[in-house]
Amino acid sequence: MAHVIAIANQKGGVGKTTTSVNLGAAIASAGKKVLLVDIDAQGNATSGTGIQKSLIEQDIYDVLVNEVPIEETILPSSHDGLDVVPATIQLSGAEIELAPQMAREMRLKDAIDSIRDQYDYILVDNPPSLGIITINAFTAADSILIPVQSEYYALEGLGQLLNTIKLVQKHFNPDLKIEGVLLTMTDPRTNLGQEVTTEVRNYFGEQVYKTFIPRNVRLAEAPSHGLAITDYDARSKGAEVYTALAKEVLAAHGDF
Ligand code: ADP
Ligand code: MG
Repeated sequence: MAHVIAIANQKGGVGKTTTSVNLGAAIASAGKKVLLVDIDAQGNATSGTGIQKSLIEQDIYDVLVNEVPIEETILPSSHDGLDVVPATIQLSGAEIELAPQMAREMRLKDAIDSIRDQYDYILVDNPPSLGIITINAFTAADSILIPVQSEYYALEGLGQLLNTIKLVQKHFNPDLKIEGVLLTMTDPRTNLGQEVTTEVRNYFGEQVYKTFIPRNVRLAEAPSHGLAITDYDARSKGAEVYTALAKEVLAAHGDF
């Protein structure tokens, strides 16, 4: 049965999608069957894994709003062992369309539960918000991986995120856990990098991954080629760190 991990932080640009794609590919490279579910209307995880827009007939919007079976939306990515449920701009209307519907918080959970036995890991790439779509992800997930960008005010907004997690635990998903906290775009050689690392470790303790993600231009280039970093430039620092992160995540689940 798959472990379902939501990658979330309501701040934009902190490395959610980069982590979803590259962690997903690195876990697949370790021999696990991985599904990446894109629930951001931007569709960056979709294009970043090489899914051609023209091949998408149905996407996560149809699953959430029209209750189309999720199997019908799954496409193979450019990386072996990594499948994708795509998102398109169509999803941008879903927050409003779901609002009056019955059991709207459970849509993604019901869909994911129906295919849990077909994968080892299911990663969900979240939008930069804490709306009904994100609530769906937190209700469907076993755990949440929080990327935190190394910058001043790195912790700002995390209180709100933790509150949302508590609300979902209370109402929909009592077993929801924090999978881990990942420092992204960090440089421990600078004072700022060190300060933020210390601050985040003081706040989250052992939940912070030993692996941190430095700035690496190859990570920023890979999505425009529709490739995971390990396929775009296997010898890059980005490939090295996401492979190391995958080992930490696999070890946490007794898979390594
Ligand atoms: P989010 O999904 O949280 O909005 P992204 O993963 O899309 O964030 O990252 C935001 C931007 O920063 C993207 O252009 C991405 O390519 C770039 N980026 C992410 N992580 C790194 C990194 N470690 N080094 C360099 N660029 C990065
Ligand atoms: Mg994103």
